[in-house]
This record gives sequence, structure tokens and C-alpha cells, in this order.
Amino acid sequence: MRFDVLTLFPEMFDAVKTSIVGRAMNNNLIDLNLINFREFSTDKQKHVDDCPYGGGAGMVIKPEPVYDAYKSIVNDLDYKPKVIYMSPQGKVLTQQIARELSKENHLILLCGHYEGIDQRVLDEIVDEEISIGDYVLTGGELPAMVLIDAVSRNVKGVIKDESVEDESFSDGYLEYPHYTRPEVFMGKRVPDILLSGHHANIEKWRREQSIEITKRKRPDLIKEERSQTNG
Ligand code: SAM
Repeated sequence: MRFDVLTLFPEMFDAVKTSIVGRAMNNNLIDLNLINFREFSTDKQKHVDDCPYGGGAGMVIKPEPVYDAYKSIVNDLDYKPKVIYMSPQGKVLTQQIARELSKENHLILLCGHYEGIDQRVLDEIVDEEISIGDYVLTGGELPAMVLIDAVSRNVKGVIKDESVEDESFSDGYLEYPHYTRPEVFMGKRVPDILLSGHHANIEKWRREQSIEITKRKRPDLIKEERSQTNG
């Protein structure tokens, strides 16, 4: 899967090139291209922002560098990749959305900064706006990294299929607790059932734990599931 990120701060993306996503990049499962749209500014000082029409605080990113950077990607393609603007005004990212997006071959992620981006270029190129939560961050880089990580985990071959299937939110519930060696830690034993080797019972116990934990930590998820099944 290919991600092209339009950003003013490509160096921030070093953080996403480690661990699982980094390995997926080395294995050619994920291709991450960082495009600094400042390079598309025709201004001598390479400015990409200007004062807002109508007045008000903060600066606004100009439309032309964003559009030209976008064109530099799509000009050579015979298909139209989905363009996502990382924005606090967008749909909040969920596991379901991450799973859906992992079916795309190519995504272009647009990261804003300052007060945001001139509306005209957003209207021209953006297919979808995605937020990572109801708070305002300085720029779209951290949200884009969150999206790349969440989507990449769902790309076939990036992690084991069972890991994706069992994970929290995958079936509407949070995941069961995990234990590893030693068998006793600070007087606390690993639940006996996990040492029993009885796979069906372990499966049943994990399912019960999953339901129990979801009821306790995120009762809203159970309500959501009920209202979905009721119609
Ligand atoms: N003035 C904008 C508003 O009130 O809606 C906020 C602009 S914010 C300071 C700058 C950029 O950060 C945005 O253009 C967006 O790309 C990104 N951003 C901020 N919060 C975000 C969030 N919760 N999810 C996704 N992107 C976000």
C-alpha cells in the first residue's frame, strides 16, 4: 500500500518508520513518500502561508503549493487516489475506518498547519476529512502518523491475521488480558486456565474476559453494538 503525505514537516515522520510500520516498509508492503509542499512555493522566500481574508488571528496555507504538490503526484497516475485531509472537523478515526482504508492501494494524506488550508484547494482535491479526536493539534502530522499506523496494521502481511482479528474493537469488544513468563510475579499467578493447554476453554475464558472488560471500561461500546443489532 502506498501513502503519499503532503506536509511542511517531513522530518517528523521518522517516528513512524520504526517498529512494525518500519518493518513493513522494508518488506515493501508499505511505501511511504513524504512531499514537502513548501518546495512548490513560487515565492522567493518559499512562504506557503498568508493572512486570512476577513481578518482574524493566525495564518492560512495558500492553495497553490498544496495543489501543485498534489498534481505532481497524480499527473503520472491513471487512477485517482483517495485524498484525506487530516482535520479536527473530520470523521473521528475508528478501527472500522482504518480497516476500510486498508483496502485502498494508495492514499494521499494532507497535513494542515497554522489556522488551516485555503478552503478552495480543499474543495478541489479532498475526498474525505479525518480527525483523530475532538481536540485541536498544531498540525496534521501526528494525526497522519496515527492513521498510517492504524491502517498499516490492517494491510495483509503486516502483522499476523489472528493478531488483527483478536485486537480491541475488531469485533466490537476490547481485547482480553495478556500474560507471559514468569508464572508468578509479585505473588500473582497467571490464571490457571492459560496453563491448562485446553484451547476451547482458553478461547471461552478469553471471550468472557473480553465482554467483562468492555462492560467495565467502555460500556458505550456494548450500547453501540446493541443499538446496531436492534436496527
Ligand atoms: N483552525 C482549525 C479549526 O479550528 O478547525 C484548526 C487548525 S489546526 C491548529 C492545524 C492543522 O492541524 C489542521 O489543519 C489539521 O491538519 C491538523 N489537526 C489539528 N487537530 C487535528 C485533529 N484532531 N485531527 C486531525 N488533524 C488535526
